[in-house]
Amino acid sequence: MRRIVLASGNPGKLAEFGQLLADADFEVVAQGALGVEDIEETGLTFVENALLKARHAARVTGLPALADDSGLCVDVLGGAPGLYSARYAGTHGDNAANNTRLLRELDGRPDAERRAFFICVLVLLRHAEDPAPLVAEGRWHGRVLHAPRGEGGFGYDPLFLPDGHERAAAELDKALKNRISHRGQALAQLHARLADLAA
Ligand code: IMP
Repeated sequence: MRRIVLASGNPGKLAEFGQLLADADFEVVAQGALGVEDIEETGLTFVENALLKARHAARVTGLPALADDSGLCVDVLGGAPGLYSARYAGTHGDNAANNTRLLRELDGRPDAERRAFFICVLVLLRHAEDPAPLVAEGRWHGRVLHAPRGEGGFGYDPLFLPDGHERAAAELDKALKNRISHRGQALAQLHARLADLAA
């Protein structure tokens, strides 16, 4: 089995990517276990940040590397919270405060002006200087609700009503969300393209 480093410290992601890549005979190792520290995400787009993280992990470890970046983009807010989704209200990972700020920014806007999508970009570099990384992207379209609904999921899930559904993302069955979400779509794409790696 070949080893690949995951440029994230999130145990949920490690399990998810671990399963996906086991198929392609890869063992996924968290960057923290190899002494790789987080780098500053200085890119201006999701794909730039995913590339920066993957390249850093590949450079430090000498292994192929996988990184992801994701967030919520609201059309009428010019794509915000975007890259700052995790810390929209100031503190990293304060979901309740982030959701409160999002509701405030959209206060008084009718449904038609609440269009939004989640995006997930995955980047796989075979080595730090790989000029042709494998890039997969998923987008999950919907709109921002007027008040939170549901107890499941994380982040902005209680405020997101996916197109074609009458339940907020936080009210959806977990397996269903994982299949149709931005992350599910990007993972499926990556999986379909793993054969490219053999080259
Ligand atoms: P990260 O790429 O895992 O750091 O995610 C960035 C941020 O985007 C998270 O902290 C959440 O605020 C938001 N986000 C990304 N994916 C989802 C999702 O599936 N549901 C809700 N929020 C999400």
